[in-house]
Amino acid sequence: MTETKCFAEVIAGKCAVLTCKKCQGHENCTMFKTEEQAKIDHEKAFERIASLPIETQEYISKAFYSGKMPWHKVVKKHDKN
Ligand code: SF4
Repeated sequence: MTETKCFAEVIAGKCAVLTCKKCQGHENCTMFKTEEQAKIDHEKAFERIASLPIETQEYISKAFYSGKMPWHKVVKKHDKN
């Protein structure tokens, strides 16, 4: 069975990531992802950030994560597996 519940649909019919606010339906939306796909993409993004030079990581940390570097926890968790 194909998953049709989008990670961004916070309340039935309401989109949390697009400015349209009302879900266009998964079949009409190029931003559709399942919760699992969104989690995998998020982890890949953190792995990519962790691979950047420390100066770039510090810039991203200050600009978007209040000085924190949450990607290190995700990457360490993967290293243990
Ligand atoms: S399918 Fe598109 S419009 Fe609907 S909740 Fe997901 S991202 Fe938003």
